[in-house]
Amino acid sequence: MIQTKGYATDSPEAKFHPWAFERRDVGPHDILIDIEYAGICHSDIHAAKNEWEAMMPTTYPLVPGHEIVGRVSQVGDAVTKFKVGDVAGIGCFVDSCRECPPCKEGYQQFCQKMAAYTYSGTYMDRVTPTYGGYSDKYVIDENYALKVTSDGDLAGVAPLMCAGITTYSPLRRFGAGPGKNVGIVGLGGLGHMGVKLAAAMGANVTVFSTSPSKEADAKALGAHNFVVTKDPANLESLAGTFDLILDTVSADHDVNMYINLLGVRGTLVVIGVPPNPNVVHSFGLIFGNKSIAGSLIGGIPETQEMLDFCAKHDIKSDVEVIKPDYIETAYDRTVRSDVRYRFVIDMKNA
Ligand code: NAP
Ligand code: ZN
Ligand code: ZN
Repeated sequence: MIQTKGYATDSPEAKFHPWAFERRDVGPHDILIDIEYAGICHSDIHAAKNEWEAMMPTTYPLVPGHEIVGRVSQVGDAVTKFKVGDVAGIGCFVDSCRECPPCKEGYQQFCQKMAAYTYSGTYMDRVTPTYGGYSDKYVIDENYALKVTSDGDLAGVAPLMCAGITTYSPLRRFGAGPGKNVGIVGLGGLGHMGVKLAAAMGANVTVFSTSPSKEADAKALGAHNFVVTKDPANLESLAGTFDLILDTVSADHDVNMYINLLGVRGTLVVIGVPPNPNVVHSFGLIFGNKSIAGSLIGGIPETQEMLDFCAKHDIKSDVEVIKPDYIETAYDRTVRSDVRYRFVIDMKNA
């Protein structure tokens, strides 16, 4: 077994602390990744605080982290995709059954036997718990690791593994591109990646934010318009004008105001996972044949496609690199929407 140093929390109220655990030895198809950076996704916070208890209760001790990048330090005998020294990434799952229709089609996140999520889950033996990227090493089957070809600093690459693919996938699925009006609700980790990616795809991008102070950043990230949502009057003239809106908000909020902004046959994609259900007014949807869709991360092929797109367009996340002793503060600041625009833990020097 491989001794691993991680940072864990033991209950919704507990604080993070250093925690030693073991990962499996490197098998024939496995690679060992020495983790350099792990992004802090708001899902880590929901999980640490057990805010999704009703649907996905958290298993403690919890080592979160599913935005992982590092260097390959060991490869199994049968590995072909990676060699020692390569940069590799890990996203939200680390294995799946490989046999069901979603797995075969490359949608491993929807494995009918349930994918092995990177943390707070189990491997496919359904016994061994998974621990995430707030740690110094990960052993993973090469088919579930991503190849990273971006140059330079890797801190900004880590968040692509969740925030990047989670926004890239629905932008592609719903045809974001030239001539399309795309709205991004919430300028946090996911939102700022959504802006960069939608702008790179050629769409006209509008940010809807509760934080007036983020306007200059939004424009620098590639947004063409910025709307402060605290005053509903700001939305009136935009009714019926959007083809696609991605809602990345992490807290309870009213989605009907965004449905109202969609044009005929427009789509609101729910990405954020607030703790409580939303109420949708039927009239708002039926007048205009509008749709509400959901989107969950992306499978391995599309995640690789997104990484290659980002390398080609020189897209990385805007990050604030922190040490593990800052995790609590980073969580508090993220919950207060005071993140510009992703906290990333330096695990290389932890
Ligand atoms: P984040 O960095 O905290 O960003 C969320 C943003 O939402 C905030 O920056 C803020 O933007 C806005 N916001 C926060 N509270 C709000 C409120 N009360 N009303 C309106 N807007 C509010 O979080 P994230 O990491 O981007 O994650 C966002 C959500 O997506 C989380 O729920 C997370 O669990 C979920 N998620 C889903 C998937 C998926 O596959 N579907 C994947 C990853 C994460 P402004 O300051 O601009 O208003
Ligand atoms: Zn995430
Ligand atoms: Zn499967």
